[in-house]
Amino acid sequence: MKIPIPPNVQAILDTLESPGHEAFIVGGCVRDVIRGTGPKDWDVATSATPAQVKALFLRTIDTGIKHGTITVLIHHESYEVTTYRIDGEYLDNRRPESVIFTTQIEDDLSRRDFTMNAIAYHPTQGFVDPFHGQEDIEKKIIRCVGVAENRFNEDALRMLRAIRFSAVLGFDVDEEAFIAMTTLKKNLAHISPERIREELGKLICGAYPQAIKRLEDTGLLKYVLQGRHYKGNLTHIIEKIQNCPPDEPMRLTLFLSWAESDCENILKDLRYDNKTIKEVALYIRLLYVPIKNDPVEIKKLLRQMPQESFKKLLDLKKIELENINAIRQTAYSIIAKGECFTLGDLAVNGRDLAQAGIPHGKIMGDILETLLNAVMHDPSLNKKERLLAYLHQHIHTASAF
Ligand code: ATP
Ligand code: MG
Repeated sequence: MKIPIPPNVQAILDTLESPGHEAFIVGGCVRDVIRGTGPKDWDVATSATPAQVKALFLRTIDTGIKHGTITVLIHHESYEVTTYRIDGEYLDNRRPESVIFTTQIEDDLSRRDFTMNAIAYHPTQGFVDPFHGQEDIEKKIIRCVGVAENRFNEDALRMLRAIRFSAVLGFDVDEEAFIAMTTLKKNLAHISPERIREELGKLICGAYPQAIKRLEDTGLLKYVLQGRHYKGNLTHIIEKIQNCPPDEPMRLTLFLSWAESDCENILKDLRYDNKTIKEVALYIRLLYVPIKNDPVEIKKLLRQMPQESFKKLLDLKKIELENINAIRQTAYSIIAKGECFTLGDLAVNGRDLAQAGIPHGKIMGDILETLLNAVMHDPSLNKKERLLAYLHQHIHTASAF
Protein backbone atom coordinates (compact mmCIF):
# COMPACT_ATOMS: atom_id res chain seq x y z
CA MET A 1 0.00 0.00 0.00
CA LYS A 2 1.20 3.50 -0.87
CA ILE A 3 0.00 6.54 1.01
CA PRO A 4 -0.50 9.65 -1.12
CA ILE A 5 1.38 12.39 0.72
CA PRO A 6 0.22 16.01 0.26
CA PRO A 7 2.88 18.35 -1.21
CA ASN A 8 3.31 20.37 2.02
CA VAL A 9 3.96 17.21 4.03
CA GLN A 10 6.36 15.90 1.40
CA ALA A 11 8.18 19.26 1.57
CA ILE A 12 8.52 18.89 5.36
CA LEU A 13 9.94 15.37 5.01
CA ASP A 14 12.37 16.54 2.31
CA THR A 15 13.51 19.55 4.35
CA LEU A 16 14.18 17.38 7.40
CA GLU A 17 15.98 14.73 5.39
CA SER A 18 18.23 16.99 3.34
CA PRO A 19 20.72 17.64 6.19
CA GLY A 20 20.57 13.92 7.07
CA HIS A 21 17.79 13.62 9.64
CA GLU A 22 15.08 10.96 9.49
CA ALA A 23 11.41 11.80 9.14
CA PHE A 24 8.20 9.73 8.97
CA ILE A 25 4.52 10.44 9.02
CA VAL A 26 3.07 8.82 12.08
CA GLY A 27 0.09 8.32 14.37
CA GLY A 28 -3.55 9.08 13.60
CA CYS A 29 -2.98 10.06 9.96
CA VAL A 30 -1.34 6.75 9.06
CA ARG A 31 -4.09 4.87 10.91
CA ASP A 32 -6.85 6.80 9.15
CA VAL A 33 -5.39 6.37 5.66
CA ILE A 34 -5.08 2.61 6.24
CA ARG A 35 -8.70 2.59 7.41
CA GLY A 36 -9.62 4.27 4.15
CA THR A 37 -10.71 7.64 5.53
CA GLY A 38 -8.95 10.91 4.87
CA PRO A 39 -6.82 11.99 7.84
CA LYS A 40 -7.74 15.13 9.81
CA ASP A 41 -4.16 16.27 10.07
CA TRP A 42 -0.69 15.02 9.20
CA ASP A 43 1.84 14.51 11.97
CA VAL A 44 5.54 14.06 11.36
CA ALA A 45 8.06 12.32 13.64
CA THR A 46 11.74 13.07 13.18
CA SER A 47 15.18 12.30 14.56
CA ALA A 48 15.96 16.06 14.42
CA THR A 49 15.87 17.84 17.77
CA PRO A 50 13.34 20.65 18.27
CA ALA A 51 16.13 23.24 17.85
CA GLN A 52 17.16 21.63 14.56
CA VAL A 53 13.55 21.58 13.37
CA LYS A 54 13.16 25.27 14.19
CA ALA A 55 16.33 26.13 12.31
CA LEU A 56 15.14 24.34 9.15
CA PHE A 57 11.78 26.10 8.69
CA LEU A 58 10.86 29.71 8.16
CA ARG A 59 7.77 29.81 10.32
CA THR A 60 7.40 27.66 13.42
CA ILE A 61 5.52 27.78 16.72
CA ASP A 62 6.85 26.25 19.94
CA THR A 63 3.62 24.34 20.55
CA GLY A 64 4.91 21.68 22.89
CA ILE A 65 8.61 22.22 22.74
CA LYS A 66 9.10 20.60 26.17
CA HIS A 67 7.69 17.39 24.73
CA GLY A 68 9.51 17.85 21.43
CA THR A 69 6.64 19.21 19.33
CA ILE A 70 7.11 22.14 16.97
CA THR A 71 4.32 23.40 14.72
CA VAL A 72 5.57 24.12 11.21
CA LEU A 73 3.54 26.57 9.12
CA ILE A 74 3.53 26.16 5.35
CA HIS A 75 1.14 28.13 3.15
CA HIS A 76 -1.02 28.93 6.18
CA GLU A 77 -1.40 25.25 7.01
CA SER A 78 0.08 23.89 10.22
CA TYR A 79 1.79 20.57 10.81
CA GLU A 80 3.11 19.09 14.03
CA VAL A 81 6.68 17.88 13.85
CA THR A 82 7.72 15.90 16.92
CA THR A 83 11.18 14.65 17.79
CA TYR A 84 11.41 10.89 18.38
CA ARG A 85 11.12 10.46 22.11
CA ILE A 86 10.65 8.04 24.91
CA ASP A 87 8.76 9.09 27.97
CA GLY A 88 10.43 9.75 31.29
CA GLU A 89 9.04 8.50 34.55
CA TYR A 90 5.28 8.44 35.02
CA LEU A 91 4.08 9.81 38.33
CA ASP A 92 0.48 9.48 39.56
CA ASN A 93 -0.70 7.65 36.42
CA ARG A 94 -0.43 10.81 34.35
CA ARG A 95 1.60 12.10 31.44
CA PRO A 96 5.33 11.99 32.18
CA GLU A 97 6.99 15.12 33.49
CA SER A 98 10.03 14.73 31.29
CA VAL A 99 10.79 13.17 27.92
CA ILE A 100 14.00 11.82 26.48
CA PHE A 101 14.73 12.42 22.80
CA THR A 102 16.01 9.45 20.79
CA THR A 103 17.15 8.80 17.24
CA GLN A 104 15.31 5.48 16.78
CA ILE A 105 11.82 5.57 15.27
CA GLU A 106 11.07 2.20 16.95
CA ASP A 107 11.65 3.78 20.38
CA ASP A 108 9.20 6.52 19.52
CA LEU A 109 6.59 4.02 18.32
CA SER A 110 6.93 1.94 21.46
CA ARG A 111 5.85 4.81 23.74
CA ARG A 112 2.58 5.25 21.80
CA ASP A 113 -0.71 3.99 23.19
CA PHE A 114 -2.26 1.53 20.74
CA THR A 115 -0.84 -0.60 17.95
CA MET A 116 -3.03 1.20 15.39
CA ASN A 117 -1.47 4.51 16.50
CA ALA A 118 2.10 3.19 16.47
CA ILE A 119 2.69 2.89 12.73
CA ALA A 120 5.14 5.10 10.85
CA TYR A 121 5.22 5.55 7.09
CA HIS A 122 7.75 6.93 4.68
CA PRO A 123 7.06 7.47 0.97
CA THR A 124 10.12 5.50 -0.15
CA GLN A 125 10.89 3.29 2.87
CA GLY A 126 7.29 2.20 3.42
CA PHE A 127 5.85 1.19 6.78
CA VAL A 128 7.58 0.77 10.13
CA ASP A 129 5.06 -1.29 12.08
CA PRO A 130 6.82 -3.25 14.84
CA PHE A 131 3.58 -3.92 16.78
CA HIS A 132 1.50 -5.12 13.82
CA GLY A 133 -0.86 -2.19 13.89
CA GLN A 134 -1.92 -2.75 10.27
CA GLU A 135 -3.14 -6.20 11.20
CA ASP A 136 -5.13 -4.82 14.15
CA ILE A 137 -6.68 -2.13 11.95
CA GLU A 138 -7.69 -4.89 9.54
CA LYS A 139 -9.24 -6.81 12.47
CA LYS A 140 -10.72 -3.59 13.88
CA ILE A 141 -9.18 -4.09 17.27
CA ILE A 142 -7.74 -1.64 19.77
CA ARG A 143 -4.73 -3.25 21.38
CA CYS A 144 -2.15 -1.64 23.64
CA VAL A 145 1.48 -1.41 22.62
CA GLY A 146 3.02 -3.84 25.13
CA VAL A 147 1.35 -5.01 28.35
CA ALA A 148 -2.00 -3.27 28.75
CA GLU A 149 -1.82 -3.08 32.53
CA ASN A 150 1.58 -1.37 32.39
CA ARG A 151 0.49 1.09 29.74
CA PHE A 152 -2.69 2.06 31.61
CA ASN A 153 -0.72 2.30 34.83
CA GLU A 154 1.62 4.79 33.17
CA ASP A 155 -1.20 6.97 31.87
CA ALA A 156 -4.77 6.34 33.00
CA LEU A 157 -6.22 8.54 30.27
CA ARG A 158 -5.34 5.82 27.78
CA MET A 159 -8.24 3.74 29.16
CA LEU A 160 -10.69 6.44 28.16
CA ARG A 161 -8.89 6.96 24.85
CA ALA A 162 -9.40 3.28 24.05
CA ILE A 163 -13.15 3.58 24.57
CA ARG A 164 -13.20 6.89 22.69
CA PHE A 165 -11.47 5.33 19.66
CA SER A 166 -13.87 2.43 19.90
CA ALA A 167 -16.83 4.87 19.71
CA VAL A 168 -15.30 6.91 16.88
CA LEU A 169 -13.89 4.08 14.75
CA GLY A 170 -16.27 1.24 15.62
CA PHE A 171 -13.37 -0.97 16.71
CA ASP A 172 -13.45 -3.57 19.49
CA VAL A 173 -11.32 -3.23 22.60
CA ASP A 174 -8.95 -6.16 22.97
CA GLU A 175 -9.72 -8.43 25.92
CA GLU A 176 -6.44 -7.89 27.76
CA ALA A 177 -6.98 -4.14 27.58
CA PHE A 178 -10.57 -4.49 28.73
CA ILE A 179 -9.60 -6.53 31.77
CA ALA A 180 -6.80 -4.08 32.61
CA MET A 181 -9.34 -1.25 32.53
CA THR A 182 -11.64 -2.95 34.99
CA THR A 183 -8.65 -3.47 37.27
CA LEU A 184 -7.24 0.05 36.97
CA LYS A 185 -10.40 2.13 36.56
CA LYS A 186 -9.80 4.00 39.83
CA ASN A 187 -6.64 5.55 38.40
CA LEU A 188 -8.79 7.74 36.17
CA ALA A 189 -9.37 9.82 39.30
CA HIS A 190 -5.79 11.08 38.85
CA ILE A 191 -6.53 12.56 35.45
CA SER A 192 -7.57 16.18 35.16
CA PRO A 193 -11.28 16.78 34.49
CA GLU A 194 -10.38 18.85 31.41
CA ARG A 195 -8.68 15.92 29.71
CA ILE A 196 -11.54 13.59 30.69
CA ARG A 197 -14.04 16.08 29.27
CA GLU A 198 -12.20 16.25 25.96
CA GLU A 199 -12.28 12.48 25.58
CA LEU A 200 -15.90 12.25 26.77
CA GLY A 201 -16.98 14.80 24.16
CA LYS A 202 -15.40 12.82 21.32
CA LEU A 203 -16.67 9.57 22.80
CA ILE A 204 -20.33 10.53 23.01
CA CYS A 205 -20.19 12.16 19.57
CA GLY A 206 -18.73 9.04 17.98
CA ALA A 207 -20.41 7.25 15.09
CA TYR A 208 -20.63 4.06 17.18
CA PRO A 209 -22.37 5.05 20.42
CA GLN A 210 -22.73 1.40 21.52
CA ALA A 211 -19.15 1.79 22.74
CA ILE A 212 -20.41 4.11 25.50
CA LYS A 213 -21.58 0.93 27.24
CA ARG A 214 -17.92 0.03 27.79
CA LEU A 215 -17.70 2.91 30.25
CA GLU A 216 -20.25 1.09 32.38
CA ASP A 217 -18.91 -2.42 31.77
CA THR A 218 -15.39 -1.45 32.85
CA GLY A 219 -16.55 0.67 35.80
CA LEU A 220 -14.83 3.75 34.35
CA LEU A 221 -18.15 5.61 34.16
CA LYS A 222 -18.11 6.56 37.82
CA TYR A 223 -14.69 8.18 37.44
CA VAL A 224 -15.74 9.95 34.27
CA LEU A 225 -18.63 11.41 36.30
CA GLN A 226 -16.15 12.65 38.90
CA GLY A 227 -17.11 10.05 41.50
CA ARG A 228 -20.87 9.91 40.89
CA HIS A 229 -23.00 6.88 40.12
CA TYR A 230 -24.70 6.86 36.75
CA LYS A 231 -28.40 6.56 37.52
CA GLY A 232 -29.78 6.29 33.99
CA ASN A 233 -30.52 3.16 32.00
CA LEU A 234 -27.49 3.39 29.73
CA THR A 235 -28.70 0.75 27.27
CA HIS A 236 -31.89 2.72 26.57
CA ILE A 237 -30.03 5.99 26.53
CA ILE A 238 -27.52 4.69 23.97
CA GLU A 239 -30.43 3.74 21.69
CA LYS A 240 -31.58 7.34 21.88
CA ILE A 241 -28.07 8.67 21.28
CA GLN A 242 -27.98 6.57 18.12
CA ASN A 243 -30.93 8.60 16.83
CA CYS A 244 -29.30 11.91 17.76
CA PRO A 245 -26.94 13.88 15.50
CA PRO A 246 -23.32 14.09 16.74
CA ASP A 247 -23.88 17.41 18.49
CA GLU A 248 -22.16 17.56 21.89
CA PRO A 249 -24.83 19.49 23.86
CA MET A 250 -27.62 17.34 22.41
CA ARG A 251 -25.87 14.07 23.13
CA LEU A 252 -24.84 15.28 26.60
CA THR A 253 -28.50 16.04 27.25
CA LEU A 254 -29.50 12.45 26.52
CA PHE A 255 -26.46 11.05 28.35
CA LEU A 256 -27.26 13.07 31.50
CA SER A 257 -31.05 13.35 31.18
CA TRP A 258 -31.50 11.36 34.43
CA ALA A 259 -29.40 13.84 36.40
CA GLU A 260 -31.99 16.65 36.27
CA SER A 261 -30.63 19.75 37.96
CA ASP A 262 -27.48 17.92 39.10
CA CYS A 263 -26.37 17.88 35.47
CA GLU A 264 -25.04 21.41 35.96
CA ASN A 265 -22.74 20.27 38.76
CA ILE A 266 -21.52 17.31 36.74
CA LEU A 267 -20.74 19.52 33.74
CA LYS A 268 -19.11 22.12 35.98
CA ASP A 269 -16.93 19.44 37.58
CA LEU A 270 -15.89 18.37 34.08
CA ARG A 271 -14.94 22.01 33.39
CA TYR A 272 -17.39 22.46 30.56
CA ASP A 273 -17.74 26.07 29.40
CA ASN A 274 -20.69 28.07 30.70
CA LYS A 275 -22.41 28.21 27.33
CA THR A 276 -22.54 24.42 27.07
CA ILE A 277 -23.62 24.05 30.70
CA LYS A 278 -26.47 26.52 30.23
CA GLU A 279 -27.56 24.95 26.97
CA VAL A 280 -27.59 21.38 28.29
CA ALA A 281 -29.31 22.43 31.53
CA LEU A 282 -32.03 24.16 29.52
CA TYR A 283 -32.63 21.12 27.32
CA ILE A 284 -32.72 18.78 30.31
CA ARG A 285 -35.13 21.08 32.17
CA LEU A 286 -37.51 21.20 29.20
CA LEU A 287 -37.02 17.71 27.80
CA TYR A 288 -39.84 16.01 29.70
CA VAL A 289 -42.18 18.99 29.96
CA PRO A 290 -44.54 18.57 26.98
CA ILE A 291 -44.98 21.69 24.87
CA LYS A 292 -48.59 22.76 24.21
CA ASN A 293 -49.29 23.72 20.64
CA ASP A 294 -50.15 27.27 21.61
CA PRO A 295 -48.49 30.24 19.86
CA VAL A 296 -48.02 32.24 23.08
CA GLU A 297 -46.44 29.31 24.90
CA ILE A 298 -44.16 28.63 21.94
CA LYS A 299 -43.16 32.31 21.76
CA LYS A 300 -42.25 32.23 25.46
CA LEU A 301 -39.96 29.28 24.75
CA LEU A 302 -38.49 30.90 21.64
CA ARG A 303 -37.71 33.91 23.77
CA GLN A 304 -35.60 31.83 26.14
CA MET A 305 -33.10 30.53 23.61
CA PRO A 306 -31.60 31.03 20.17
CA GLN A 307 -33.70 29.56 17.34
CA GLU A 308 -31.00 26.98 16.69
CA SER A 309 -31.39 25.72 20.27
CA PHE A 310 -35.17 25.57 19.97
CA LYS A 311 -34.75 23.42 16.89
CA LYS A 312 -32.38 21.14 18.78
CA LEU A 313 -34.80 20.95 21.72
CA LEU A 314 -37.56 19.82 19.35
CA ASP A 315 -35.23 17.25 17.79
CA LEU A 316 -34.44 15.93 21.27
CA LYS A 317 -38.12 15.76 22.15
CA LYS A 318 -38.76 13.86 18.95
CA ILE A 319 -36.13 11.31 20.03
CA GLU A 320 -38.05 11.08 23.33
CA LEU A 321 -41.14 10.31 21.19
CA GLU A 322 -42.97 13.54 21.87
CA ASN A 323 -45.06 14.48 18.83
CA ILE A 324 -43.64 17.81 17.87
CA ASN A 325 -44.87 18.14 14.26
CA ALA A 326 -47.63 20.65 15.03
CA ILE A 327 -45.32 22.61 17.35
CA ARG A 328 -42.68 22.82 14.66
CA GLN A 329 -45.29 24.15 12.24
CA THR A 330 -46.49 26.79 14.69
CA ALA A 331 -42.92 27.87 15.46
CA TYR A 332 -42.02 28.09 11.76
CA SER A 333 -45.10 30.20 11.12
CA ILE A 334 -44.29 32.56 14.03
CA ILE A 335 -40.75 33.00 12.72
CA ALA A 336 -41.78 33.26 9.04
CA LYS A 337 -44.30 35.98 9.87
CA GLY A 338 -41.69 37.81 11.90
CA GLU A 339 -43.97 37.91 14.95
CA CYS A 340 -42.50 39.55 18.00
CA PHE A 341 -41.45 37.49 21.02
CA THR A 342 -38.54 39.48 22.47
CA LEU A 343 -38.25 42.92 24.02
CA GLY A 344 -35.82 43.78 21.23
CA ASP A 345 -38.54 43.25 18.61
CA LEU A 346 -41.14 45.26 20.47
CA ALA A 347 -42.22 48.40 18.55
CA VAL A 348 -41.60 50.57 21.61
CA ASN A 349 -38.51 50.77 23.79
CA GLY A 350 -37.55 52.33 27.09
CA ARG A 351 -36.95 55.70 25.51
CA ASP A 352 -40.48 55.80 24.06
CA LEU A 353 -41.92 54.94 27.45
CA ALA A 354 -39.79 57.59 29.17
CA GLN A 355 -41.17 60.15 26.73
CA ALA A 356 -44.66 58.98 27.69
CA GLY A 357 -43.76 59.91 31.26
CA ILE A 358 -42.85 56.54 32.69
CA PRO A 359 -39.91 56.58 35.08
CA HIS A 360 -36.94 54.27 34.56
CA GLY A 361 -36.55 51.30 36.87
CA LYS A 362 -38.61 48.29 37.80
CA ILE A 363 -41.89 49.87 36.73
CA MET A 364 -40.63 50.43 33.22
CA GLY A 365 -39.37 46.87 33.04
CA ASP A 366 -42.74 45.57 34.20
CA ILE A 367 -44.59 47.68 31.64
CA LEU A 368 -42.35 46.49 28.80
CA GLU A 369 -43.05 42.92 29.89
CA THR A 370 -46.79 43.63 29.95
CA LEU A 371 -46.64 45.08 26.45
CA LEU A 372 -44.58 42.15 25.18
CA ASN A 373 -47.10 39.76 26.65
CA ALA A 374 -49.94 41.63 24.94
CA VAL A 375 -48.07 41.53 21.60
CA MET A 376 -47.41 37.82 21.98
CA HIS A 377 -51.18 37.30 22.24
CA ASP A 378 -52.05 39.80 19.50
CA PRO A 379 -49.24 40.42 16.98
CA SER A 380 -51.20 43.22 15.31
CA LEU A 381 -50.61 45.35 18.43
CA ASN A 382 -46.89 45.63 17.65
CA LYS A 383 -46.98 49.18 16.29
CA LYS A 384 -45.76 52.17 18.19
CA GLU A 385 -49.08 54.12 18.21
CA ARG A 386 -51.09 51.04 19.08
CA LEU A 387 -48.79 50.14 21.95
CA LEU A 388 -48.86 53.69 23.32
CA ALA A 389 -52.65 53.66 23.07
CA TYR A 390 -52.67 50.27 24.83
CA LEU A 391 -50.47 51.76 27.50
CA HIS A 392 -52.94 54.57 28.17
CA GLN A 393 -55.93 52.28 28.12
CA HIS A 394 -54.65 49.42 30.21
CA ILE A 395 -52.00 50.85 32.44
CA HIS A 396 -52.75 53.77 34.68
CA THR A 397 -51.19 56.73 32.94
CA ALA A 398 -47.93 58.37 33.67
CA SER A 399 -49.36 60.58 36.37
CA ALA A 400 -50.12 57.49 38.38
CA PHE A 401 -46.42 56.74 38.78
P1 ATP B 1 -7.37 11.91 16.46
O1 ATP B 1 -7.88 11.50 15.15
O2 ATP B 1 -8.37 11.88 17.53
O3 ATP B 1 -6.55 13.18 16.48
P2 ATP B 1 -4.85 10.69 16.99
O4 ATP B 1 -4.39 9.29 16.91
O5 ATP B 1 -4.19 11.69 16.10
O6 ATP B 1 -6.40 10.70 16.83
P3 ATP B 1 -3.97 12.33 19.15
O7 ATP B 1 -4.54 12.46 20.50
O8 ATP B 1 -3.99 13.48 18.22
O9 ATP B 1 -4.70 11.09 18.49
O10 ATP B 1 -2.49 11.81 19.34
C1 ATP B 1 -1.57 11.62 18.27
C2 ATP B 1 -0.74 10.37 18.51
O11 ATP B 1 0.02 10.50 19.70
C3 ATP B 1 -1.56 9.11 18.68
O12 ATP B 1 -1.86 8.49 17.45
C4 ATP B 1 -0.65 8.26 19.55
O13 ATP B 1 0.33 7.63 18.75
C5 ATP B 1 0.04 9.27 20.42
N1 ATP B 1 -0.61 9.50 21.72
C6 ATP B 1 -1.53 10.45 22.03
N2 ATP B 1 -1.90 10.39 23.32
C7 ATP B 1 -1.22 9.38 23.86
C8 ATP B 1 -1.14 8.81 25.17
N3 ATP B 1 -1.89 9.28 26.17
N4 ATP B 1 -0.28 7.79 25.35
C9 ATP B 1 0.48 7.31 24.35
N5 ATP B 1 0.45 7.79 23.11
C10 ATP B 1 -0.38 8.81 22.85
MG1 MG C 1 -4.52 13.88 16.15
